[in-house]
Amino acid sequence: QALFQLVERWVPAARRAQHLHGKGYGVERLAQAIQAGELVNHYQPKVSVSTGAVVGVETLVRWRHPEDGLVYPDQFIGLAEAHGLIDALTQVVLAQALRDSTTWAREGLALKVAVNVSMDNLHALEFPERITAVAAAAEVKPQSIVLEVTESQLMKDLRAPLEILTRLRLRRFKLSIDDFGTGHSSLAQLRDVPFDELKIDQGFVHGAHHNETLRAIFFASLGLAKELGMEVVAEGVEDAEDWDFLQKSGCDLAQGYFIARPMPADQVLDWVAAWRA
Ligand code: C2E
Ligand code: CA
Ligand code: CA
Ligand code: CA
Repeated sequence: QALFQLVERWVPAARRAQHLHGKGYGVERLAQAIQAGELVNHYQPKVSVSTGAVVGVETLVRWRHPEDGLVYPDQFIGLAEAHGLIDALTQVVLAQALRDSTTWAREGLALKVAVNVSMDNLHALEFPERITAVAAAAEVKPQSIVLEVTESQLMKDLRAPLEILTRLRLRRFKLSIDDFGTGHSSLAQLRDVPFDELKIDQGFVHGAHHNETLRAIFFASLGLAKELGMEVVAEGVEDAEDWDFLQKSGCDLAQGYFIARPMPADQVLDWVAAWRA
């Protein structure tokens, strides 16, 4: 179907290019992995700082490589972006995330599901239509789907994606700006983009309690997001000191190894039950 066509269209170009990337995975091998279902989603909980309630999960893709074991996204996302495979990858990841969230919902656990979206996804005008169709097919409301885009990718060129982001917003998807603090955006630029959520980069969260510079950036980001009416997520909560600091910070949500590491879909229900207990 559509996914197959996306990959097919691309394969001849890859045969010509034969590029290698990262650890040495070829694009052709990655295309095959996408089609063969070797990509698996892991999920990391996002919890409320004040109540501890689990409000959602972030989808983090892994490649279950038959020989090399679990391969992390920094080894293959860039490759997918560079060779026109990112639309197929995003579609596979999103579809699997929606299937998993439907399973959790059937067990009585309603979770917002966040998916990482590449800037290259936001250059195709049909992207909003395509993911709307995927969401409709899975019977998941766009309001329950969060699309995370990194600040650094976004700020390279805001003009092109703005229309697509606006269309996504009109279709009621939630938009999140990821790794905030690393992308040098200005207040004026941020005001133009209709984001619902801002995620403060882990570099300004972990250890902020004992570092004045990190704290200054953390609170500047928090204040800015609040001013613009966004929900704020602190990433990289790695220890009890980070968590205690957040309790007093006014930040809405938290994510990090101290709360939970990313986990396979079939561990999510048990983790939530244990967290609540
Ligand atoms: P990200 O979106 O900023 O995701 C957070 C990364 O930090 C994840 O790494 C996560 O495992 C890790 N992390 C979570 N909690 C902590 C913590 O407390 N401390 C530290 N040090 N790290 C923590 P991961 O899974 O290796 O993903 C790396 C990046 O790959 C992601 O960064 C995201 O930009 C990208 N990525 C992952 N999945 C996808 C995808 O499906 N599509 C696209 N386009 N990009 C993806
Ligand atoms: Ca993210
Ligand atoms: Ca992040
Ligand atoms: Ca990141």
